[in-house]
Amino acid sequence: MCAKASLKKIHQEIQNCTKCPLHKTRKNAVPGEGPSDADLMFVGEAPGAEEDKTGRPFVGRSGQLLIDLLNGIGLDRDDVFITSILKSRPPNNRTPHKDEVEACISYLERQIAVINPRIIVLLGGVAISNMIGPWKLSEAHGRFYEAEGRTYFMTYHPAAALRFPKYRDIMSEDFQKLKDELDF
Ligand code: SF4
Repeated sequence: MCAKASLKKIHQEIQNCTKCPLHKTRKNAVPGEGPSDADLMFVGEAPGAEEDKTGRPFVGRSGQLLIDLLNGIGLDRDDVFITSILKSRPPNNRTPHKDEVEACISYLERQIAVINPRIIVLLGGVAISNMIGPWKLSEAHGRFYEAEGRTYFMTYHPAAALRFPKYRDIMSEDFQKLKDELDF
């Protein structure tokens, strides 16, 4: 099966998934979107209200900021794959529970295996701690991390930059490092 078809199959499974209780309160599961051969894959925390309503990742205010940051390094939303640790929205956007992550993480692992991105960008503490272990964000941001044959890059979640504008400049600098590494 080609990468595009494999990804479609995973996404159909996610849309019908009942592996954790979040399926009872979501409107739509949010598998993620982007090219099946993307060089860059962005991993956030979980869908929010807009994402739940539309079934699309990063379409709210955080999404707009992510797009602005991508545009700042010459990329468009369509150039990258965007997803999150959880594929269904936790009520009131609370932090994902451990059992929900355990139930859901295999979907992300399968997406990574199919897409085989050059760099996986972890947005914020929940993505970082669940993919590579706990890091202090103030020390983690702007750093690359190699593990099990994968290259990760750590930065803040766009929602943090919406709450605290100083993080926006820090994220712009982080994205510049990403551009330098990708060398495009
Ligand atoms: S969060 Fe993940 S495991 Fe839970 S219902 Fe949604 S897709 Fe399934």
